Formats: sequence, structure tokens, C-alpha cells
Amino acid sequence: MLYTARQERYESMTYNRCGKSGLKLSAISLGLWHNFGGIDKYENGRAMVRRAFDLGITHFDLANNYGPPPGSAEESFGRMLKDDLSPYRDELIISTKAGYYMWPGPYGEWGSKKSLVSSLDQSLKRMGVDYVDIFYHHRPDPDTPLEETMAALDMIVRQGKALYVGISNYRPEQTREASRILKQLGTPCVIHQPNYSMMSRWIEDGLQEVLEEEGIGSIVFSPLEKGILTDRYLNGITSDSRAAGPSVFLRPEDISETRLAKVKELNKLALERGQKLSQMALAWVLRGGRVTSALIGASKVEQIEDAVGALANASFSQDELDRIEYILK
Ligand code: NDP
Repeated sequence: MLYTARQERYESMTYNRCGKSGLKLSAISLGLWHNFGGIDKYENGRAMVRRAFDLGITHFDLANNYGPPPGSAEESFGRMLKDDLSPYRDELIISTKAGYYMWPGPYGEWGSKKSLVSSLDQSLKRMGVDYVDIFYHHRPDPDTPLEETMAALDMIVRQGKALYVGISNYRPEQTREASRILKQLGTPCVIHQPNYSMMSRWIEDGLQEVLEEEGIGSIVFSPLEKGILTDRYLNGITSDSRAAGPSVFLRPEDISETRLAKVKELNKLALERGQKLSQMALAWVLRGGRVTSALIGASKVEQIEDAVGALANASFSQDELDRIEYILK
């Protein structure tokens, strides 16, 4: 059936300005890393993307290698655009990335101009779009001069293949340097994509200061610690969960007893606040306005509804923040 987006989709979502740019992002964004590949059910992914858009999520995050197989998440998303979302292209922020291994030989990964330009051309074809809204360098390259990688990003914007550029997984000093080069070229670094959650807090140690100083926004990935900071694993590992699946990025041994004990305490606090743990975890990364958007993953439509529901109770008392710190110690 022909899809028509929900009329009220912009009424309850919050939109945050991305650093000092003109771009606003939904406070919750949806990533297509897991559950949108060629091995996954297309109709489930399609239902999640439609529901997300209906709830005011405007930003969908991809990368060249998302699948499996690599590239297939972009193909699926391209199909969703064709089936449902292409009339809404001007309401969407689509991002993709290059930097991790994608094809054999010296140009299929890292950060050379050759690699980035070829990869983005492939991504545009797979998604069937003329441009992406944000193009990222996915990880720092120890061998390619940063000037070359940043010049590739600048060129891509000048060619009209991306509107904005960003970096992902760059440490504080690399970020400052990348930002300096991009400013000189006249294409500012608009966004940084690091991981951040109650259980992964490295960005508090310098990166957030650099982002503020440079006027760069941040979209934080794995804010639910890949599912650990939810009620998913409170009663064991069920067969439909990521930890039980083929992903090498979350293994049953990651759900340790020590972690689970903390999750249980956090869950109690979330329930006292009248929300789910997943919702408290998202509200927590967004606290204080330092983060532009929380970039979630999902395997079910209800998880997206949960995430958007987090915004209904996104503030914390000092006592609650202190209790969270105490639990996480
Ligand atoms: P999350 O930490 O949000 O984990 C998502 C997983 O948590 C879901 O797949 C689901 O697991 C579980 N979950 C979500 N909501 C709920 C809920 N309400 N109740 C119970 N369980 C829930 O993020 P991801 O690790 O998926 O990463 C998000 C996105 O970040 C990616 O899609 C990608 O776009 C980006 N990313 C970027 C990286 C980079 O290097 N730049 C690296 C990694 C991710 P289950 O499947 O078990 O249901």
C-alpha cells in the first residue's frame, strides 16, 4: 500500500542544532548497522524506518559496509526510498561513511582520496540518490595525511555529492586538527560520531571540549551499549537478541554478571522515574545539551517507539544523576 507519512510527525520530536551549523537533527536518530542487511527481513526494516519517520526521526545513518553482506543496508534503504520515502527526500537527513574495509586491494578502506571518492560513488548508486546529507570519514587513517582525507571531504561537498561532512571515531587532538584543516578549506566539520553511553564515557575526557570549542555537533552511537542498557538481558539472553545472533560486536560474554548487576540497579531507578531503562539511558546521553542526537539501533518497531518516548522525561534531578554515578562506579 502507498505510504503516506503521519501528519503530526513533527509535533513531539525535539530538533537540536548541530554545533554551529544551520543543520538541525532529531534528538533521536536511527542507524541501520544491524537488522537492515540482505540477511534480514526487508519488511521489518521497512516498518521500522516508516515508524521512525512518522515519529519525527528525520535522520537515518548508514555506512558503505553495513549489512551483512556489506553494502546491503544501503541497498535496502534505497529500496525503502523508492517504495515509501522518496516523496519526502527533502525532509530526510541521510548519512553514509567510508573508512572501514569494503573491497579488496589498496583502495577499499582507510582514508585516501581515491578510497573515499570511490566509496561514496558506490554508496550513492546503492541508495539510488544523487547526494547524501552527511558524509563521514569513518575512522582515522594512520598512514594517509590528514590534509588529503580532509581535502577529499571538501571536494565531495564542492561536487555536490554531500551537503555536510563529519568524522567518526577521531580522538580529541585528531579532531582539532581535522577541524582546522577543514575550516581552512572552507568546508567546516559539522559533526562528529563517537560512541557514548553510561558505560562508555571516553568522550567526556577531552573530546566534548574540543567539539564545543570548534563548534562541531555530536551524534553518539550505541547509546544503549548495543542493548545492554535496556531490559533486554535482565532475564537472560533470548534467541532474538543481538548477543545471541551472528554479530561479533556483542557476544554473550559481554553480558557479564558485574554489568548485569549495574543494569538491574539502573533499571530500578528508571522505573522510579516512570520510564524504561532504555529511555533513561537515552535521556542521560542527551542531558545538558552537549550531544546533538542519540543514534540508536533497533530490531523492532516498539524499540523505536520506546526511544522517542524517552523525550517525554528527559531531565534529571541532581540526586538522580548522583545515584547513576554511584551505580556505575
Ligand atoms: P544501541 O546501543 O542503540 O543498540 C541497539 C540495540 O539495542 C538494538 O538492536 C536492540 O537490540 C536493543 N534495543 C534498542 N531499543 C531497545 C528497547 N527499547 N528495549 C530493548 N532493547 C532495545 O546502538 P547500536 O549499537 O545499534 O548502534 C546504533 C547506530 O550507531 C548504528 O546503527 C550505526 O548507525 C551507528 N554506529 C556507528 C559506528 C561508527 O563507528 N561510527 C559503530 C557502531 C554503530 P536487539 O537487536 O537485541 O533487539
